[in-house]
Amino acid sequence: MKHTKVKDLLQSNTTLTEVNAKGWVRTFRNNQFIALNDGSTLNNIQCVVDFENTPEETLKRITTGAAISVVGALVESQGAGQKYEIQVSKLEILGDSDAEKFPMQPKKHSLEFLRENAHLRVRTNAFGAIMRVRSVLAFAVHRYFQEKGFVYVNTPIITGADAEGAGEMFQVTSLPLDNLPRTEDGSINYREDFFGKHTNLTVSGQLEGETFAMALGQIYTFGPTFRAENSNTSRHLAEFWMIEPEVAFNDLDDNMDLAEDFIKYVVKYAVENCADDLKFLEGRLADEEKQKPQAERSEMTLLEKLRFVLENDFKRVSYTEAIDILRDSTPNKKKKFSYIIEQWGADLQSEHERFLVEKHFKCPVILYDYPANIKAFYMRLNEDGKTVRAMDILFPGIGEIVGGSQREERYDVLVEKMRALGIDEEELWWYLDTRRFGSAVHSGFGLGFERLVLFVTGMTNIRDVIPFPRTPMNAEF
Ligand code: ATP
Ligand code: MN
Repeated sequence: MKHTKVKDLLQSNTTLTEVNAKGWVRTFRNNQFIALNDGSTLNNIQCVVDFENTPEETLKRITTGAAISVVGALVESQGAGQKYEIQVSKLEILGDSDAEKFPMQPKKHSLEFLRENAHLRVRTNAFGAIMRVRSVLAFAVHRYFQEKGFVYVNTPIITGADAEGAGEMFQVTSLPLDNLPRTEDGSINYREDFFGKHTNLTVSGQLEGETFAMALGQIYTFGPTFRAENSNTSRHLAEFWMIEPEVAFNDLDDNMDLAEDFIKYVVKYAVENCADDLKFLEGRLADEEKQKPQAERSEMTLLEKLRFVLENDFKRVSYTEAIDILRDSTPNKKKKFSYIIEQWGADLQSEHERFLVEKHFKCPVILYDYPANIKAFYMRLNEDGKTVRAMDILFPGIGEIVGGSQREERYDVLVEKMRALGIDEEELWWYLDTRRFGSAVHSGFGLGFERLVLFVTGMTNIRDVIPFPRTPMNAEF
């Protein structure tokens, strides 16, 4: 007999004489009621065991965490909270679980504790919900771009470009680290390395993505990216997933429109397709908020926050306007910021970004036209000669969720910029070719997938929204 998913059993529109369910025991009460979960939904199905006719030995093995298979009738439940339950006629233990040692007890665990048990934490309601929402969001990402005719491009994970311009890189090598080949001047001889040159894990697929956009028109990437930044924050991972659309003939305004439309689409898709999970996560967030002092509590519930994003235009503000606002702000004047904003040209820290979004505008903000010298080399220089066509999207509770720009399409301007920054033209010859053969205005952005999942699930630490987080000093499993 084929087993049926718990989700489908709970959604059945009739009772059934015989069904089979398989899953893991969440709780076993009164030697009679099993709460069975198989991961297909947040909800458990109640399985009522005929304890008088079940051997004592078997009953003892129905412990939290055990894998079981039950066969029985799907009947209307007498108990509150569920429409159906299974009246068990046959029960098989598939995999025992030592309940005393099983880390996921039916009580509430701290997120810190669960992170240390990442391999089992997905057996809890919260992580089951987060990971299902994450999966639905990933599907929505593909669906959005595919519906619009974008081509999905897999840019390389190992890159030969040292100058992707987005952060510290992890080196990839097959050289023996205890016996490195040297050149005559004593430096490491990368000619003897696997690729015959120095290589790294990618920090962004953008440069390669641009070459494809300049042939296929509209492309997107969705893959892992790696940054060896030693910042142990709640918003940074060493390995994270990034979505990077790149579109030929789009200028910065088109780019902002695309990013806003895209984010709204995927958030809406999750709201419409993850109702149970989001409701649970809303409750979790509400409990967490109650621990905070009154003044710091959010005025909105999780679903209200998501709907707010769907229903309101993102506020578009130039960097220059933002600096004026920040300079005149109370936390700046009272020196509450760690970094005081004194003049135009300052790089914005996350405290400033969050002030703009959470306190000043109280809605998602798109900041654009940043000073050239705090942004990457490939961004289109404005006519003022000092700002570039960059945009960052800032979200409440998250800070930066998107970073993007219109790209510098003029060969001469780009080369001059690279020279000024000491970026090797020869190394990026293939990138510069896009500006030599049929260059055109084009734009794109990168959205950190985990930051999106953070926002949608209402979680606050990025380690809690990726299956196996990679952070400094942490790659156990
Ligand atoms: P931040 O200032 O927050 O470190 P960044 O300016 O380095 O971000 P970009 O290089 O513009 O970010 O990358 C594009 C997007 O990728 C960011 O907007 C963010 O959503 C995400 N991102 C960047 N670094 C990380 C990281 N270490 N972990 C998770 N997501 C990240
Ligand atoms: Mn960064």
